[in-house]
Amino acid sequence: MSWSAEEEGAILDTIDRFVTNEVAPIAREKDLADEYPHELVETMKELGLFGATIGETYGGLSLSAATYARIVQKISAVWMAPGGIFNSHLIMAAAIERFGTEEQKQEFLPLMAEGTLRGGIALTEPNAGSDLQAIRCVARRDGDEYVVNGSKMWITNALNGNCLALLVKTDPDAEPRHRGMSMFAIRTKDDAGNLLPGISINKIKKTCYRAIDTAEVVFEDFRVPIDNLVGGEEGRGFHIAVGGLELGRINVAARGAGIAQGALKLAVRYAQERETFGKPIIQHQAIQLKLGEMAAKVEAAKLLVEQAARMYDTGQRCDMEAGMAKYFASEAGVFCAQEAMRIFGGYGFSTEYEIERFYRDAMLMCVGEGTNEMQRIIIAKQLAAREAI
Ligand SMILES: Cc1cc2nc3c(=O)[nH]c(=O)nc-3n(C[C@H](O)[C@H](O)[C@H](O)COP(=O)(O)OP(=O)(O)OC[C@H]3O[C@@H](n4cnc5c(N)ncnc54)[C@H](O)[C@@H]3O)c2cc1C
Repeated sequence: MSWSAEEEGAILDTIDRFVTNEVAPIAREKDLADEYPHELVETMKELGLFGATIGETYGGLSLSAATYARIVQKISAVWMAPGGIFNSHLIMAAAIERFGTEEQKQEFLPLMAEGTLRGGIALTEPNAGSDLQAIRCVARRDGDEYVVNGSKMWITNALNGNCLALLVKTDPDAEPRHRGMSMFAIRTKDDAGNLLPGISINKIKKTCYRAIDTAEVVFEDFRVPIDNLVGGEEGRGFHIAVGGLELGRINVAARGAGIAQGALKLAVRYAQERETFGKPIIQHQAIQLKLGEMAAKVEAAKLLVEQAARMYDTGQRCDMEAGMAKYFASEAGVFCAQEAMRIFGGYGFSTEYEIERFYRDAMLMCVGEGTNEMQRIIIAKQLAAREAI
């Protein structure tokens, strides 16, 4: 299904209202209290956000990545964290929709689209983040089941969600290492919300991206049916994980662009209110230079996000473009949040003002979904491949 420009505009208007009426009023309080925004989740369900990019066949809205990125930007321009509730959820859904068997799609996607099942992606481990092929979590076949042992680190939505895309080694000795990696779509809780036997979850306290749960997930003899092996075939896990990261990177890029935009907006407003030396600080050239540079970075970030999302929508390989968007937009978020902090002077450090949250949240975008060091390496490798001599 493709949405007309008019319909897309109506969806974005609805998101604007959601952001103004429901996200903005609770952002500061929930962030400072590190309290999960359950009420937002209920509205997100009503808005269909948990099915935003899931196909219509499975109950989703089938939105393009470009529209999805605009939604994420709008939310992040006010509060970045809530986007995390449906972002890794949708990456999991995309992995199942792109690589899963029809039975797996039927089992997971309709429930994920309505938000009854809410998921995340469990890739990172205590010893393996950027070097994903170094993971040690193992799934060993035992009859009609696999037995999983190991632990995952920094898993968003682990505590408040109830399913995960779980990357494991099914053949730890395989060479090259990625051939021994497989992906499972698992439920972590029963229908009553209790953790399944063999899983324990420990919440991690964070300086940023607060209110949204990020946790360590430990598997001890956790049993998962063979039917939950995504695609029904061992050895495809790394390919599936990396495939899902393109959409993830576009999302993080959109969040970076949103943070940059939000920080700029707060700074422009404050610079008109605050007076020094007998005039509003926006009339000082030093402040104007900051705002001018921030505004240019915001627009550039938005354009890179748009380009990557459009390529994704046409089915083209876009790891380089998604990497560029993610790298540039997240750095733009950090730059704008820092410059805004300078413009706010001492008041930036007061939790009475929103800008300190943007400052804390911005840096995460440089690390999540592949660090910005890794993004530049991916970009350079693609340059070499595309312009090989
Ligand atoms: C709040 C939060 C939420 C997260 N949510 C999730 C989630 O839901 N699911 C999930 O699976 N993961 C999640 N992560 C994990 C995140 O994806 C990893 O932290 C990230 O990939 C980096 O891995 P690492 O922390 O192990 O750093 P490392 O890989 O140890 O890297 C440390 C430093 O070394 C650099 N580095 C590493 N290798 C190279 C190289 N070859 N060349 C140059 N520099 C290099 C890195 O860029 C970085 O600067 C989350 C992290 C955070 C903080």
